[in-house]
Amino acid sequence: MPDKRDYYEVLGVQKGCSDDELKKAYRRLAKKYHPDLNPGDKEAETKFKEANEAYEVLSDAQKRQKYDQFGFAGVDPSYGAGAGGAGFGGFGDMDFDLGDIFGSFFGGGFGGSTRTRNPNGPIRGNDVNTQLNLSFIEAALGCQKEVTIQRLERCETCDGTGAAKGTSPESCSDCGGTGQVRVQQRTPFGVIQTSRTCPKCNGKGKVIKSPCSDCRGMGRVRHTKKINVNVPAGIDNGQTFVMSGQGDHGVNAGPAGDLNITVGIRPDPIFSRDGFNVWCEIPITFTQAALGDEITVPTIDGKVTYEVPEGTQPGTTFRLRNKGIPFVNGRGRGDQYVKVTIEVPQNLNNKQKQALKDFEALANDKNYEKRKGFFDKLKDAMKGED
Ligand SMILES: [Zn+2]
Ligand SMILES: [Zn+2]
Repeated sequence: MPDKRDYYEVLGVQKGCSDDELKKAYRRLAKKYHPDLNPGDKEAETKFKEANEAYEVLSDAQKRQKYDQFGFAGVDPSYGAGAGGAGFGGFGDMDFDLGDIFGSFFGGGFGGSTRTRNPNGPIRGNDVNTQLNLSFIEAALGCQKEVTIQRLERCETCDGTGAAKGTSPESCSDCGGTGQVRVQQRTPFGVIQTSRTCPKCNGKGKVIKSPCSDCRGMGRVRHTKKINVNVPAGIDNGQTFVMSGQGDHGVNAGPAGDLNITVGIRPDPIFSRDGFNVWCEIPITFTQAALGDEITVPTIDGKVTYEVPEGTQPGTTFRLRNKGIPFVNGRGRGDQYVKVTIEVPQNLNNKQKQALKDFEALANDKNYEKRKGFFDKLKDAMKGED
């Protein structure tokens, strides 16, 4: 491949120039070097093609960004790969719509000239998306699962060519295998000849006379596939992880797409989650809260014991450090928070009732500081009203 000139240099603009400047520079060059205005001038033709290619890339914001970042390799998959490198032949081989450029000189809209990519070049397979439902613990700790997906795979019967066994694609008779046909076009500059993608072979230059029966000539077939996946620990509801290269197979030796797996987490009867922290609520008895007790607390790693102190109040939350959810793709983990609720006893028998009455008769203000504080405040408030 001959050395290519930088696209900005070709158009004679600065790297950070505006779309308007680009457009002006391109129009100027296109007018100056158009082959129909410079018949037989090879240099003008080359410059015209160069300008055309540069503008096609730089006028597309996405392509321009890629070009700025990666150079030619960012915008042309065949660049440097040697695959399908379209050696420029005559002007007639160009995939270029003359109507667009003349339209722009005579008041028509500008842009919209999209250059179709080489149909024989490598094309990446599409991504495949799927959903995976997990339990709270599976997502928190990570797990191995099997997902069943449908994806396009290279047809083994025809080896991806699309042609029936024992046959192979033949050269297209309409375009003589070039993929391009010549078209006459009337313009303000006279009748000129341009080339268009051959409609019979869609620019491939080849036609399949007897298609492979398994893939009906497409070269790929849809298969149902079971895939083992390693679910990363710590993944949250609605998050997606990617298994690269497990999507649809590519075409013309292009790479496969990815498999995107979105996780749904079933609600857990005990645990809930806030970021990487786990929350749970534990009911204790009113005696345990008053006297203190050692209780069993479930965590995502199993049960642990925790000493509830004497005089624990309802709604008290304690924290178990590093008992939360592991950070996805990182080190460390969150904490577990345990909220204590106190269950007031119900369905008491007479003996139990009597024991509580006896207890209450012995109780004093020191046992119920909150209650005392409340009534002190209430008393003050009433005084104020007198
Ligand atoms: Zn096939
Ligand atoms: Zn053709």
